Amino acid sequence: MAAKQNFIAGAWVDGSGVTVDINPSDVSDVVGEFTQANKAQTDEAVAAAKAASAAWGLSTPQQRADALEMIGTELLARKDEIGRILSREEGKPLANGIAETMRAAQIFKFFAQEALRIEGTQLASVRPNVDVTITREPAGVVGLICPWNFPIAIPAWKIAPALAYGNTVVFKPADLVPATAWALAEIISRSGLPKGVFNLVMGRGSVVGQAMLDNKDVNALSFTGSVQTGARIAQACVAQNRKFQLEMGGKNPLVVLDDANLDAAVAGAVDGAFFQTGQRCTASSRLIVHSKVHDAFVEKAVTMLKGLKVDHALKEGTQIGPVVDESQMKQDEDYIRIAREEGGELAWGGERLNRDTKGFYLSPALFTNTKNDMRINREEVFGPVASVIKVDSYDEALAVANDTAFGLSSGIYTQSLKAANDFRRKSQAGMVMVNLPTAGVDYHVPFGGRKGSSFGPREQGRYAAEFYTTVKTAYVSA
Ligand code: NAD
Repeated sequence: MAAKQNFIAGAWVDGSGVTVDINPSDVSDVVGEFTQANKAQTDEAVAAAKAASAAWGLSTPQQRADALEMIGTELLARKDEIGRILSREEGKPLANGIAETMRAAQIFKFFAQEALRIEGTQLASVRPNVDVTITREPAGVVGLICPWNFPIAIPAWKIAPALAYGNTVVFKPADLVPATAWALAEIISRSGLPKGVFNLVMGRGSVVGQAMLDNKDVNALSFTGSVQTGARIAQACVAQNRKFQLEMGGKNPLVVLDDANLDAAVAGAVDGAFFQTGQRCTASSRLIVHSKVHDAFVEKAVTMLKGLKVDHALKEGTQIGPVVDESQMKQDEDYIRIAREEGGELAWGGERLNRDTKGFYLSPALFTNTKNDMRINREEVFGPVASVIKVDSYDEALAVANDTAFGLSSGIYTQSLKAANDFRRKSQAGMVMVNLPTAGVDYHVPFGGRKGSSFGPREQGRYAAEFYTTVKTAYVSA
């Protein structure tokens, strides 16, 4: 099988090595082979984006809208096929893979329209006979570095606004999910964009990602991934005075008060904590439960967990697929061991499972008897592992929820308008959910967090303009 190639300056090109993409539901299934870029090739992609930047920055909104609309339309038409590729290489159940592909299509269609609505303002100057205009211009060449857990939605929510606002793109997908990225890039390659406007460079973070960081012609860099990599990106970007945006980890709290609809709260907690194998930055990993309903909550949650079907992502009825790979599996198991050593009690799960095919199957692990200062409640696991923290009041719940280095999303289940409103106001998170799981967001509104979870302007919705454009103030005298 010929390895799928990188897309640079309008041409498909080989890199300097090949990676084999393995299905985590069945390690005997090879999803495909993909070329790996090296530093020189990454620099070529940046040079191509730079060469295309001036003309694309002056392209008409209609040109941009037409390209983005075409990409969205084709993604929608091929959602079943691309969703299947996504689920096969990442391991989320097929329905989620298809839904994520639809989400990507909606994002492209949303930004197709936004390209037609790039606004500026005009003010009278404080000086006579002078007008002041404030307009938005493209940031220039943008580097997009993506994680593996949303292989098409996250690339879409970076690529679509980047193009809509007139930037040229160098896109680096995560090493574990090149097939979905390649399928997306192949559609983009036929969307009528001039050569060099969009470039795909697949390969390792330490090689391709690092080359993007080192290249002074990358004007802005958008990153989603781990806290550790985010810190390196920040340092490199500050050193180069480059605009950057980071979306990183979470340790998201879900509060369950004693007046909550308990069945809804349990369903929301199980969904938020364990669906998509807990591999969501918005996963509810700290379940902060009022002591009056604690035991009933745990009992109902364990009953629900026992009934969940953990199996091959493409199998009918699967609710939770495999962990993404062996190294993530080891990380999950390490945290399960650490939680036990810290005094956490495993109420359910945390076991490797055997299925018909050899994959990375782990039963969802729920810990009780945990305290907020334990490592299991301080550090992101990024797997199907959650812990319950018992509290005696709303005030204690709020304090525990906010006592974290992170601040991506948070949630509360309660029937009390007073508590819900107070939580909405005082929760130190970028996204707050009331009577909803902490994961699961809309595509037309801002996405992002506070504290250690995020840095820089928000992604998605109209707020994306803050990152992908730079403001110009012009003074004009007649
Ligand atoms: P990661 O940090 O390992 O990798 C992310 C990307 O960075 C990959 O493309 C990787 O190749 C690249 N990279 C690695 N080393 C690099 C380097 N030295 N220089 C430049 N690039 C480099 O993260 P991951 O394991 O792919 O993703 C999981 C993490 O992503 C979790 O922490 C999760 O919380 C986070 N995440 C956050 C959000 C959010 O919006 N807040 C969304 C999804 C995932």
